[in-house]
Order: sequence, then structure tokens, then C-alpha cells
Amino acid sequence: MRLPKFSYRTPRTIAEAVKIIADAGPEGQFVAGGTDLYPNMKRRQQTPRTVISVMRLPELNQVTGDGGQGLVIGGSVTLTDICEHPIIKRDYPVIASAARTISTPILRNMGTIGGNLLLDTRCNYYDQNYEWRKGINFCLKKDGDVCWVAPGSSKCWAVQSSDLVPVMVAIGAKFRLVSTLGERMVDAAGFYNDDGIDYLKKRHDELLVDIHLPATNGWRASYQKLRRRGAFDFPVLGVAAYISFSTGSGSGPIMSGTLPDGRVSAISGSDRITDAKIVLGGIAPSPIEVNEAAQALIGQPLNEDQIQAAAEAAYVKARPLDNTDFVMNWRKQMARQYTIRALEELR
Ligand SMILES: Cc1cc2nc3c(=O)[nH]c(=O)nc-3n(C[C@H](O)[C@H](O)[C@H](O)COP(=O)(O)OP(=O)(O)OC[C@H]3O[C@@H](n4cnc5c(N)ncnc54)[C@H](O)[C@@H]3O)c2cc1C
Ligand code: SF4
Repeated sequence: MRLPKFSYRTPRTIAEAVKIIADAGPEGQFVAGGTDLYPNMKRRQQTPRTVISVMRLPELNQVTGDGGQGLVIGGSVTLTDICEHPIIKRDYPVIASAARTISTPILRNMGTIGGNLLLDTRCNYYDQNYEWRKGINFCLKKDGDVCWVAPGSSKCWAVQSSDLVPVMVAIGAKFRLVSTLGERMVDAAGFYNDDGIDYLKKRHDELLVDIHLPATNGWRASYQKLRRRGAFDFPVLGVAAYISFSTGSGSGPIMSGTLPDGRVSAISGSDRITDAKIVLGGIAPSPIEVNEAAQALIGQPLNEDQIQAAAEAAYVKARPLDNTDFVMNWRKQMARQYTIRALEELR
């Protein structure tokens, strides 16, 4: 498969980058590592005539702050750098460990956090070469007029398949977007549409400059990923769990364990959960926040009963379709198991 012809631009400032895309109109598209965009172009799923690299914009290549004040990660920071950054590993281990599950070491050297958060949605009937898709007369998402997953549906159900998206939603990250019209901050929660075609609340001409993570005062988070091959595969279910605790009141038995980053964690048996989020990825066009799971946890200690209740809520809410790997009913059942795993890791 060959890339179509396109012109390639390498702006050095944000102002220049947003001007180029504004001038290019719908024919322009940003590229970072290209590990998603270039295969899509080879398959003629996306066909920009002007491709604008964001890799040489200094603001997008830096990481500033820490867990005490909050961290800002530039959109073009590579996944390898995310995995190895000492402050991310120390203060936001969930980000480093989720990034470590993405694709392969070589692809992580190229792929960026920004590209990951803006990843195209995926579907077995769409992630195929042009001839394959032509053989089924294409589909609603590109060049066709029927959805092969749900033929009666006017909506595309292609799946949000980024590993970092559920984590960003769970921890309350914010994204800074810039265009020639100005700048805005948006919450990761609410940034993703439940529509496999129009999957982002981002205008085409907006540049994702950086990702703002909240200070780590008293919360912790974990991520569990279901995939066929341990070496590399997209998630066909991802569960992000976030909890914060009331501190200082604990007089009950202490539960302790070692976190994935090597730190020792200790929670008093009487500590209460003050806030919680369970977010499911890889099963729908947008990440799914399971409010019922949060309700089962908030105000309670993190014990067996609460974990089971939250897992049951995740199971009920998960409604995967038959458009990725594995049987959809089994993926639904795994939502329960992976929620248990994510919460057990926090315990
Ligand atoms: C074999 C293989 C396996 C993979 N496995 C996984 C996996 O397990 N989990 C997973 O999450 N992903 C996976 N991926 C997808 C991809 O590699 C990663 O998501 C990667 O992080 C994408 O980043 P990128 O910089 O290469 O994005 P690009 O391809 O450069 O861009 C992706 C999209 O983001 C837009 N974009 C990029 N940066 C900006 C910006 N700053 N502002 C505005 N728009 C921007 C582009 O226009 C494009 O639409 C896999 C890919 C391959 C090829
Ligand atoms: S969900 Fe339907 S419309 Fe969307 S990519 Fe798959 S087959 Fe195409």
C-alpha cells in the first residue's frame, strides 16, 4: 500500500501551524508521529492534501510541573518519553503504565500522547485496505451508506480505542486547544462524542497544544487493558479506575501493598472514598463513565462488597458491539473482571 501524494509542512511556531491549517481548510490535517494517520492514508480512509507536522513546535515537546502543582504534557511528547519520564513515573504512574501497553516499543518511539488522544475510531469493517472496503461497498464511516455492524442504524459505532483516553477522563485531565480564532481549555470528560464518525468535540483547525493533569493530592488511579496478544494489540476493553480518600481519620486495620511503580501503599480499613470514577474504553465510540459504579464506592471504605458492586455496575453498563476482536458477550463479562482488577490494584 502506498501513500497518496500530499504536500508536507513543518511549521516552527504554533501561530504558523494554525495559520497553515486554516488556509488549507478541510484538505489540511496535522500529523505527529504518523502511526495512525499514515496507515489510514494508505488505506484511503483519510486523504489530506496538506499534512502539517506538529513535531517541531517547542511548546508541544515539553513536560512541566509535577504532582504537587499539576503536570502539563505537550501534545508531541512521544509515548516512550511518557513511559520513561521520571516525574510521570513517580507522580502519575497510571499514565506511564497505560502508555507502556500501547503498540510496540518502535511505534512508541514515534507515536505521541496527542496523537493517541485524537486517535481515529476503529472497526473491523473499516480498518481494511481500500479494495477490501470496496468489496463490501464501503460503509457509513467512509465512502458508503450502510453500517455493517448495525445495518438499520444511521450512526457509526466504530470504537474509541485509545489506551490513554479512559485514564484522562477518569483523572479529570484538561486539553488546551489553539486555532487562529484563539485558545480554549476543554475537559477530557465530554471531549469525545458517542459517534464513530464525528468522534471529537474538536474543530478540524484546532491544534492540541498540551494536556493538563490535576495535582495528585490524595487520589490514585489504575488502568486494566483487555487484548488478545500481550506483546501488542489495541484494547478491546480498557477499565480506568480513580479514587480519592479522606485522609487522617483511619483507625481500622491497615491494608498495604506494592504499587506497579514500586511504591508501597497503605490504606486504613476505615478510610472513606470521597470521589470515584470508573471509565470504560474500547467498547463504544466514546469512553463510558459508569456513574452507578462511582455511587457504589463513594462514602464507603474500599472493601470487597464495594468492589463487587462497582464491578456489577460496570458489567451492566458495558454494551460492546461485534466490531472488534473477541465475542462481544465475553467482552461484556470481562468488564466486571477488569473493574475488579483495577480496584484491587488500588487496594
Ligand atoms: C500496529 C499498531 C498498534 C497500535 N496499538 C495501539 C494500542 O495498543 N493502543 C493505542 O491506544 N493505540 C495504538 N496504536 C495507535 C497509535 O500508534 C497510537 O495511538 C499513537 O499514540 C498515535 O500517535 P501519533 O503521534 O502517531 O498520531 P498521528 O498518527 O500522528 O495522529 C493521529 C491523529 O491525531 C491528530 N493529531 C496528532 N497530533 C495532533 C495535535 N497536536 N493537534 C491536533 N491534531 C493532532 C492527527 O491529525 C490524526 O488525526 C497502534 C498503532 C499501530 C500501527
Ligand atoms: S460501525 Fe458501521 S459505519 Fe462505523 S465503521 Fe463499522 S461498519 Fe462502518
